[in-house]
Amino acid sequence: MPKRFQTPPAPLAGSFDIAGFRASLLGWFAANARDLPWRRTLDPYQVWLSEIMLQQTQMDRAVSYFERFLARFPDILSLADAHEDEVLKLWEGLGYYSRARNLLAAARAVRDRHNGIFPTDFAAVRALPGIGPYTAGAVMSVAFNDPRPAVDANVERVLARVLDIDRPVSEPAVKRRLLAAAWELLPPNQSRAFNQGLMELGALVCGPRKAVCPRCPVSGLCLALARGTVAERPVSRPRPETIRIDMACGVLVSGGRLFIQKRQADDVWPGLWEFPGGVLEPGETPEQAMIREFFEETGLQVRPAGRIAVVRTSYTRYRITLHGFFCQAESGQDPGRDHRLHAAVEARLVLPSELDAFAFPAGHARLIVRLLTDVRLTELLTAAD
Ligand code: SF4
Repeated sequence: MPKRFQTPPAPLAGSFDIAGFRASLLGWFAANARDLPWRRTLDPYQVWLSEIMLQQTQMDRAVSYFERFLARFPDILSLADAHEDEVLKLWEGLGYYSRARNLLAAARAVRDRHNGIFPTDFAAVRALPGIGPYTAGAVMSVAFNDPRPAVDANVERVLARVLDIDRPVSEPAVKRRLLAAAWELLPPNQSRAFNQGLMELGALVCGPRKAVCPRCPVSGLCLALARGTVAERPVSRPRPETIRIDMACGVLVSGGRLFIQKRQADDVWPGLWEFPGGVLEPGETPEQAMIREFFEETGLQVRPAGRIAVVRTSYTRYRITLHGFFCQAESGQDPGRDHRLHAAVEARLVLPSELDAFAFPAGHARLIVRLLTDVRLTELLTAAD
């Protein structure tokens, strides 16, 4: 059965000029495609890596991370053999760390299930960890010119405007409709250029905040432009309310070293490292919360030894204020020996210069910058416990 018959029924009106849309988009993309590092190759590993990095990440940042990642892991086997800590460290600052863990798991699956060769079959690609329908479609079409659409948020936005869809694109029925439209618009044998062209149009012309319609190659076919509804498309659901959270953590200095622990599988940001701490309870000061959390997480009693900094970060709809403190173990306790979760939680005492080898969540990474330039650190490192 031809692959195109696996799709939902086509929704485009009979009068829609599909051939004109294809020709206009392909011509525009040929003339306007940006020179991006992953476009200089058809290597499915690099195409896949770029697609994963570009999720939730600005293009400029993705380019620098992509080049750094590729310099360290030039092929899928070098990635498959990597230690998770090193992969997370290279990912540090990009956020959404499940992407990095899934990259590593997928690379190992390719090594173990496919003899180290990236699969060319859609079902096999889709079965790899962290690869959803969009990423599979993007890799299959860009790397292999397989006739499949790749509908990401950019493409959804363009199609919702071209077709003047008046329902939120987050609705499953609308998503199905847009996917069906993408299938119908896909030109035979040119999915590689067409899919990238649609994404590029969404990135460069039909943007999330501004549509530059006079420069658009498909403006003559755009229903939203014709009906004057561009500013209202795509229809989006109201944003969820932001939630503000105060947290506190303690940088325990002991024996000239700093105490860090690894986050657990059921934590946010599993596999990353941190200074023990947590959310303030009602009525607690940041210092009190740090002492309580430190004890709850490690069994160690600590006393504050000065505020390092207050740093602010965002995570999805959370706005986090992190209060960081130096602290020292109460007398008689040896952090290297006494933290009670030793068997379950991976913890280490490291030199300040060794912190750079570990990946931390954004707030803790910012705190490290502050603590390493804090004159009190030297005093605490040389002080007796
Ligand atoms: S004409 Fe405007 S709204 Fe329509 S696809 Fe082009 S840029 Fe987007």
